[in-house]
Amino acid sequence: MQLRQRAKYLCEYCHTSEQWQYVPFTVDHIIPLSLGGNDSLENLALACFHCNRRKTHRVTIALPETSEEIPLFNLRQDNWSEHFIRSADGLLIVGVTQVGRITVTALALNRERVIGIRAANKQIGRHPPQDDPIQKN
Ligand SMILES: [Zn+2]
Repeated sequence: MQLRQRAKYLCEYCHTSEQWQYVPFTVDHIIPLSLGGNDSLENLALACFHCNRRKTHRVTIALPETSEEIPLFNLRQDNWSEHFIRSADGLLIVGVTQVGRITVTALALNRERVIGIRAANKQIGRHPPQDDPIQKN
Protein backbone atom coordinates (compact mmCIF):
# COMPACT_ATOMS: atom_id res chain seq x y z
CA MET A 1 0.00 0.00 0.00
CA GLN A 2 2.79 2.38 0.95
CA LEU A 3 4.46 1.57 -2.35
CA ARG A 4 1.31 2.40 -4.31
CA GLN A 5 0.70 5.65 -2.47
CA ARG A 6 4.27 6.77 -3.00
CA ALA A 7 3.90 6.03 -6.72
CA LYS A 8 0.60 7.95 -6.80
CA TYR A 9 -0.87 4.75 -8.29
CA LEU A 10 1.14 5.23 -11.48
CA CYS A 11 3.54 2.84 -13.13
CA GLU A 12 6.74 4.59 -12.11
CA TYR A 13 8.21 4.15 -15.59
CA CYS A 14 5.45 4.87 -18.14
CA HIS A 15 3.16 6.77 -15.73
CA THR A 16 0.11 4.76 -16.69
CA SER A 17 -2.50 4.89 -13.95
CA GLU A 18 -3.19 1.65 -12.15
CA GLN A 19 -6.61 2.94 -11.20
CA TRP A 20 -8.25 2.04 -14.51
CA GLN A 21 -6.53 -1.30 -15.14
CA TYR A 22 -8.05 -4.74 -14.85
CA VAL A 23 -4.81 -6.23 -13.60
CA PRO A 24 -2.96 -4.80 -10.59
CA PHE A 25 0.54 -3.52 -11.34
CA THR A 26 3.60 -5.48 -10.36
CA VAL A 27 6.43 -4.67 -8.01
CA ASP A 28 9.77 -4.09 -9.69
CA HIS A 29 13.15 -4.40 -7.99
CA ILE A 30 14.98 -1.31 -9.22
CA ILE A 31 18.28 -3.08 -8.55
CA PRO A 32 17.40 -6.71 -9.29
CA LEU A 33 17.96 -9.31 -6.59
CA SER A 34 20.35 -11.03 -9.02
CA LEU A 35 22.54 -7.90 -8.97
CA GLY A 36 22.53 -7.50 -5.20
CA GLY A 37 19.31 -5.54 -4.79
CA ASN A 38 17.05 -6.17 -1.82
CA ASP A 39 13.38 -6.14 -0.86
CA SER A 40 13.48 -2.81 0.95
CA LEU A 41 10.83 -0.28 0.01
CA GLU A 42 13.60 1.94 -1.27
CA ASN A 43 14.50 -0.64 -3.91
CA LEU A 44 10.92 -1.36 -4.99
CA ALA A 45 8.89 0.37 -7.64
CA LEU A 46 5.34 0.09 -8.84
CA ALA A 47 5.53 -1.01 -12.47
CA CYS A 48 2.96 -2.06 -14.99
CA PHE A 49 3.36 -5.59 -16.30
CA HIS A 50 4.80 -4.41 -19.61
CA CYS A 51 7.43 -2.08 -18.20
CA ASN A 52 8.49 -4.69 -15.68
CA ARG A 53 8.73 -7.37 -18.36
CA ARG A 54 10.75 -5.09 -20.63
CA LYS A 55 13.11 -3.99 -17.88
CA THR A 56 13.80 -7.55 -16.73
CA HIS A 57 17.04 -7.70 -14.73
CA ARG A 58 18.69 -4.75 -16.46
CA VAL A 59 20.03 -1.57 -14.90
CA THR A 60 22.04 -0.43 -17.92
CA ILE A 61 21.65 -0.68 -21.68
CA ALA A 62 24.49 -0.81 -24.18
CA LEU A 63 24.38 1.89 -26.84
CA PRO A 64 24.19 0.13 -30.21
CA GLU A 65 26.80 2.46 -31.76
CA THR A 66 29.51 2.25 -29.13
CA SER A 67 28.48 -0.53 -26.71
CA GLU A 68 28.82 2.06 -23.95
CA GLU A 69 26.64 1.03 -21.01
CA ILE A 70 24.08 3.73 -20.22
CA PRO A 71 22.15 3.52 -16.95
CA LEU A 72 18.41 3.02 -17.17
CA PHE A 73 16.28 5.59 -15.42
CA ASN A 74 16.63 4.88 -11.69
CA LEU A 75 13.55 5.91 -9.78
CA ARG A 76 15.26 6.52 -6.50
CA GLN A 77 18.18 8.48 -7.87
CA ASP A 78 16.60 10.27 -10.79
CA ASN A 79 13.66 12.61 -11.12
CA TRP A 80 11.21 11.58 -13.87
CA SER A 81 10.72 15.18 -14.97
CA GLU A 82 14.43 15.67 -15.54
CA HIS A 83 14.65 12.80 -18.00
CA PHE A 84 11.26 12.76 -19.70
CA ILE A 85 8.71 15.15 -21.09
CA ARG A 86 5.29 14.51 -22.61
CA SER A 87 4.74 15.41 -26.24
CA ALA A 88 2.49 18.43 -26.67
CA ASP A 89 -0.55 16.18 -27.19
CA GLY A 90 0.39 14.23 -24.07
CA LEU A 91 0.49 10.89 -25.86
CA LEU A 92 4.22 10.25 -26.13
CA ILE A 93 6.99 10.16 -23.57
CA VAL A 94 10.07 11.86 -24.96
CA GLY A 95 13.49 11.25 -23.42
CA VAL A 96 15.30 14.54 -22.90
CA THR A 97 18.55 13.03 -21.62
CA GLN A 98 20.56 10.03 -22.74
CA VAL A 99 19.18 8.10 -19.76
CA GLY A 100 15.67 9.16 -20.72
CA ARG A 101 16.08 8.23 -24.37
CA ILE A 102 17.59 4.83 -23.69
CA THR A 103 14.84 4.08 -21.17
CA VAL A 104 12.08 5.08 -23.62
CA THR A 105 13.55 2.64 -26.13
CA ALA A 106 14.41 -0.20 -23.75
CA LEU A 107 11.06 -0.21 -21.99
CA ALA A 108 9.10 0.72 -25.13
CA LEU A 109 7.36 3.50 -23.23
CA ASN A 110 5.51 4.52 -26.39
CA ARG A 111 4.27 1.10 -27.45
CA GLU A 112 1.25 1.25 -29.71
CA ARG A 113 -1.17 -0.16 -27.18
CA VAL A 114 -0.26 2.26 -24.42
CA ILE A 115 -0.58 5.21 -26.81
CA GLY A 116 -4.11 4.02 -27.56
CA ILE A 117 -4.90 3.81 -23.86
CA ARG A 118 -3.45 7.30 -23.28
CA ALA A 119 -5.56 8.70 -26.12
CA ALA A 120 -8.73 7.10 -24.78
CA ASN A 121 -8.00 8.27 -21.24
CA LYS A 122 -7.20 11.78 -22.46
CA GLN A 123 -10.64 12.07 -24.02
CA ILE A 124 -12.27 11.48 -20.67
CA GLY A 125 -9.84 13.59 -18.66
CA ARG A 126 -7.79 10.78 -17.11
CA HIS A 127 -4.57 11.58 -18.94
CA PRO A 128 -1.90 12.90 -18.77
CA PRO A 129 -0.94 12.73 -15.09
CA GLN A 130 -1.07 16.26 -13.75
CA ASP A 131 2.55 16.44 -12.60
CA ASP A 132 4.11 15.37 -15.91
CA PRO A 133 5.88 18.14 -17.82
CA ILE A 134 4.47 18.74 -21.33
CA GLN A 135 6.26 20.05 -24.41
CA LYS A 136 5.09 23.38 -25.66
CA ASN A 137 4.12 23.62 -29.31
ZN1 LIG B 1 4.63 1.05 -17.27
